[in-house]
Amino acid sequence: MSEGIDQKNLDVIVIGAGPAGGQCARELAKLGRHVVLLEHSQEIGEPNYSTAGTPKETIEEFELPTSVLSATWNRIYFASSHEQVEWTYPDVRGYVFDFAALRKFLSEDAAHKGADIMVGTGVTSLIEDSGQFVGVRYKSVWGEGELRAPVIVDATGHWGFVNSQLHLNKGLPEDFVSAMEVQMTAMPQGLAGTLGFYFGDVAPRGYAWVFPMEQSKAAKMGIGSYGPLPPGVELKPLLKNFIAKFDTTKHLEPTEIHGGGGYISPGVKNHVYNNIILIGDAAFQVNGLAYEGIRHAMRCGRLAANSIHQCLHDTIDQVELKKTYEAEWHKVFGSRWRASYKNANIIYHKFSDADWDKVVEAYRDLSPADALEVFFHYRYELLFKHPKLAWLLGKYIVVDSLS
Ligand SMILES: Cc1cc2nc3c(=O)[nH]c(=O)nc-3n(C[C@H](O)[C@H](O)[C@H](O)COP(=O)(O)OP(=O)(O)OC[C@H]3O[C@@H](n4cnc5c(N)ncnc54)[C@H](O)[C@@H]3O)c2cc1C
Repeated sequence: MSEGIDQKNLDVIVIGAGPAGGQCARELAKLGRHVVLLEHSQEIGEPNYSTAGTPKETIEEFELPTSVLSATWNRIYFASSHEQVEWTYPDVRGYVFDFAALRKFLSEDAAHKGADIMVGTGVTSLIEDSGQFVGVRYKSVWGEGELRAPVIVDATGHWGFVNSQLHLNKGLPEDFVSAMEVQMTAMPQGLAGTLGFYFGDVAPRGYAWVFPMEQSKAAKMGIGSYGPLPPGVELKPLLKNFIAKFDTTKHLEPTEIHGGGGYISPGVKNHVYNNIILIGDAAFQVNGLAYEGIRHAMRCGRLAANSIHQCLHDTIDQVELKKTYEAEWHKVFGSRWRASYKNANIIYHKFSDADWDKVVEAYRDLSPADALEVFFHYRYELLFKHPKLAWLLGKYIVVDSLS
């Protein structure tokens, strides 16, 4: 299977064709690097496990075509047991991706720019030689094989191939977020073009959501939990109850059901280990506040590609690679990730149903512009512009965490 690949001149092996790996391969190929992208699934885009909402800036930032978009949104709606708040925008403020189409596009564009793609190919182990990682072994539907390159990028999502092999990031503060989601053939009434979030007893230790699909002709509805649910409580019945709250969906059968999840953390200790870089969910780069990870995974894919390009000469300068990539990561993400992790821990583990009512009511003071800044750019300091929110959240919320 790897016979067609010019192994002698291979610069980078990228493992996993999700948003992180797809974008990284795309960038490396654009920079003229010889890269191979290995994907375990037979078809890129399967399974379709992400709700995939994103703000509109993502499309421009990564030059994405409209074919990867499923729906637009211009409203954010929060509800607790007895309160609600909404922020509306005059124009489109974001999209919900067709997640399978997005991942397919990234790989196809990487191939178009010169990357080699191997699907149905799962990486099984690292090849070590004199204390260095010189390549990977893989198993594919066509058989087993090896690939060698000076740099290896782990973009295997929450499966975390390298962490599972080398135990690099043990002992981190972390929380496992588990989720269950369905796709329905109708959008609950009043929620067209809306990202809807539901807090409190409806979703203990997390939140439930309704996102538009197919230009609001269909919906993704799901529920997630940060850490284990209370004893005797399970995601499936909670999701059934949630769907039954809406007249439009209560009699419908889902067209698709999937589970998913992964770790959130304040940031891993080792993003780079020798000549290996971990990106995306494999490096816990999903943001803790609302489990948004696609554009962050793609940003880290780009960051990794640029760092590799800068540090790869005849061989890879491992010290420089670690310094360059990790410095950039901390600059772009660092303190906001630590604050988001701490805040997620507080709101999803400590808030009662009554607390959520108070918070959702107080959110009415937050302007539409500030709501975007807080929920998509993690600028928690903006909450303190509002006396009621400051009073209510002041004792809980972390603004910019240094430790
Ligand atoms: C239910 C749910 C809802 C979500 N909603 C949103 C949302 O609305 N917006 C948002 O931005 N984010 C959302 N996320 C998070 C987002 O989907 C992830 O952060 C993002 O997909 C991470 O991208 P990635 O490339 O790091 O990993 P992944 O998307 O997990 O991709 C990893 C890839 O690696 C492959 N792979 C794994 N092991 C191997 C191996 N050994 N060899 C070869 N290939 C391998 C896998 O098959 C997979 O294709 C959601 C996640 C879930 C679970």
